[in-house]
Amino acid sequence: MAPPAWLKESVTEVPDFPKPGIAFKDLSPLWRSSSATSRCAVALAANLPDIDAVVGIEARGFLAGIITAQRLGVGFIAARKPGKLPGPVARQNYELEYGTDGLEIQQDAISAGDRILVVDDVVATGGTAEAVCNLVEQLGGQVVGVRAIIELSELRGRDRLGQYNVSALWEVGA
Ligand code: AMP
Repeated sequence: MAPPAWLKESVTEVPDFPKPGIAFKDLSPLWRSSSATSRCAVALAANLPDIDAVVGIEARGFLAGIITAQRLGVGFIAARKPGKLPGPVARQNYELEYGTDGLEIQQDAISAGDRILVVDDVVATGGTAEAVCNLVEQLGGQVVGVRAIIELSELRGRDRLGQYNVSALWEVGA
């Protein structure tokens, strides 16, 4: 499905950034536009089951996550790079192209049975979102969905996130 005009106009594709071969989706124009940001919040928060909180992924996922949480009237929880949050924290490591990285959530942020929506700006291979879903589950939360502004369909993140309900405002390449 074609993206809405306000979204298409708000994303710049930057070739070979941050390294050769990557077509970087720059959402800076979206965040610079108050009206596009408002529309984005409405779209991200649409057609969801009941949720208790939104988890946003560092760093650009914080922006998408917090506007979604505000629109839904629920709290926002940050999934951060290791060492950024005061403990105790739960941690999940995940594979990168070269090496591994990790993400952490404060242990008291999620209670057993909490219904959590995971939000990021872009889902590419799905590895980052998968790590956060695992982290939510480690803390006893239930992932009710993964929502992104953009999904790069050719990278098949949806396959990797198969057990979760994945949706994006713009499925590039679908
Ligand atoms: P992945 O784990 O491969 O799904 O990558 C997702 C993370 O990397 C997200 O947090 C995005 O912010 C970022 N990302 C990956 N590919 C792109 C891209 N082409 N343009 C912008 N951000 C990207």
